[in-house]
Amino acid sequence: MYDFIIIGAGYGGLTAASLLAKSNKKVLVLESHYSIGGCAGYYKREGVLFDVGATTLSGFDYNGPLDRIEKELNFQLKKKRIDPGMVINFKGKKILRYRNLQKWIEELNKHFPGINHEKIWSRIEHVSEKAWGLLSEVPLFPPASFNDLFSFINKNTGDYLKLLPGLLTSFKSGLPKEARNHEDYIQFLDQILMITAQEKSDRVPYLLAALGLNYPKDTFYSYGGMTSMAHEIEKKIKGYEGELKKRRKVFCIEKNDSDIFIIKAEFNKKTEVYKSKNIISNIPIWNFTEICSGNFKNKMNKISKKYNKSWGAMTYYFSVKFKKDLESLYYQVHSNELKKFIDSESLFFSFSARDDLTRCKDGFQAVTVSTHISIDAFKKQNFYEDNKAKIKTFEKIVLSTFQKSFNEFEILDVGKGEVGTPATFEKYTNRFEGRVGGIPHILDYYPFSYPKNSTPDPNIFLVGDTVFPGQGVVGVISGAFSLVYRILKK
Ligand SMILES: Cc1cc2nc3c(=O)[nH]c(=O)nc-3n(C[C@H](O)[C@H](O)[C@H](O)COP(=O)(O)OP(=O)(O)OC[C@H]3O[C@@H](n4cnc5c(N)ncnc54)[C@H](O)[C@@H]3O)c2cc1C
Repeated sequence: MYDFIIIGAGYGGLTAASLLAKSNKKVLVLESHYSIGGCAGYYKREGVLFDVGATTLSGFDYNGPLDRIEKELNFQLKKKRIDPGMVINFKGKKILRYRNLQKWIEELNKHFPGINHEKIWSRIEHVSEKAWGLLSEVPLFPPASFNDLFSFINKNTGDYLKLLPGLLTSFKSGLPKEARNHEDYIQFLDQILMITAQEKSDRVPYLLAALGLNYPKDTFYSYGGMTSMAHEIEKKIKGYEGELKKRRKVFCIEKNDSDIFIIKAEFNKKTEVYKSKNIISNIPIWNFTEICSGNFKNKMNKISKKYNKSWGAMTYYFSVKFKKDLESLYYQVHSNELKKFIDSESLFFSFSARDDLTRCKDGFQAVTVSTHISIDAFKKQNFYEDNKAKIKTFEKIVLSTFQKSFNEFEILDVGKGEVGTPATFEKYTNRFEGRVGGIPHILDYYPFSYPKNSTPDPNIFLVGDTVFPGQGVVGVISGAFSLVYRILKK
C-alpha cells in the first residue's frame, strides 16, 4: 500500500514524487513510456539525441522553481546560461534578447523606435520578479477555498495585492498607446507570448504575460538534453526510497469500500493492480477524466470540458554542421510561408550546444524545430496516409526557412530529418488529441477559473501543465511545489 501513487513521470509528477518521498511518504510513480520526461523527453536517431518538445530551461533566477528544486534535492544540473536567450528573426530584423535590461532596451530602440521601451520592460521585469516571489511564498495561490486565503497573509501581502489587478486586464491594454497601436511590435510580442503563454497579448492577463515575456531573459541549456534534470530527480526519488516503474499505462482508478484507491495499469499486455491512499495525476486533465470512475468521473468531466482550447505542435528534428558559431542556441523565425500554410506565424529553432558531445558528434548540432498547430488541422483517420502531403509541405517550409535564416553561419552539412505531429505526441506521451503546451493563459480563466491542483475528492490531486500555474518545465515544477505544500500542510 502506497501513500501516493503518481500517474506520469513528466516534470510535474517527478518533482511532486521527489518532494513527497523526501518527506518520508511512500510513493510510486507509474509511467507509460519506456523513458521519463514526457514533453521534455528525448529520442535517439542514428547517434543523435533530440529533445522531443521542450528545449529551454528557465527559472534559475529570483529563487525560481528550478533553483529551488536543485537546492531542495541537493543536485547541480550541468547547464549553461544562454545570452542572448533568444534571437528573433522578424521582417528582415534580427533582434537579440539580451539578459541585461539596458542592453535589451537599446536593442528594442534600434528596431522599434518611438516606443517607451524603458517604461514597458522595467515594469515587466518588476512584475515578473514579484510574481515569482508570490508563487514561492504563497503556494496556495490562486486560492481554492476560504482557508487558502489565509496563506496569503505574510509580510509581503501589501506588495502581492498590488499584483492582482494584473490578472484582470490584458497585457496589450496595459501598454502605452504608441506601443498598442504599433502593429509590428504587437506581432513581435505576440509570437513570444505564443511560446510562453500559448496566447496573444490581447487575451493574456498582464501578470502572466509579464512572466512569459521575461522568460527568455533567463534561458539555460541543459547538457545531455532536457531530460537530464528529470534523471537527476529520478535518482533522488529512488534515494529517498520512492519507486518509479516505467511501461505502466494506468487505465483505471476506482475506490474500494475502505476508501483505498485501486489503480490498474497495463504492463506487457497484462494488468497490474496497485493500492494507494492518495493519487496525484500528472497527465492532462482530459486524459485523467477518462481513467476515473463513478461519480468522481462525472465531476471531472464537467471540469475538464470547460477547457477546450489547447494547441497541438508540429515539430521537425534534424542535425546540422555550421562553419561559424551561432550567437544563441534558440531562434524564433517569423515566416509568411508558414502563416499561409497553418495557423501559426513562427518557427522555433533550438540547437544543441556544439560542445555537448552527448547529443551530437563531429561538430554537428541536433536541432528541434517546433510550432503551434490547431489540433483539428489534420484528418484523424489513417493519419499518415491522409496527411502525407501536408507533412511534406511542412518539412519543405522548415528547410527553406532554415536555409534562408541560417545561411550566414555557413551550413556545411545537414542530416536527415523527421517530422512530428499531434499524432506523434499522442502516441508517445498519450496526451489527449495531441494537445500540448498546457491550457492557454487567457483572461476568461482569471482570477479564479484556471484549473487548480485540488479536485472534488480530497485524496486526488493534479499537477502538470494543465493546472495552475501551468506551462513549461518552470511552471509545472512551481505547481509541484505548491501541491506538495498543500498536501503536507493538511
Ligand atoms: C513542442 C514543444 C516545445 C516546448 N518547449 C518548451 C520549452 O522550451 N521550455 C519549457 O519549459 N517547456 C516547453 N514546452 C512545454 C513543456 O514541455 C511541458 O509544459 C512540460 O514538459 C509538461 O510537463 P508535465 O509534467 O505537465 O507533463 P508531460 O510532460 O506530458 O508528462 C506526462 C507523463 O505522463 C505519462 N503518461 C501519460 N498517460 C499515462 C498513463 N495513462 N499512465 C501512466 N503514464 C502516463 C506520459 O508518458 C508522460 O511521461 C514545450 C512543449 C512542446 C510540446
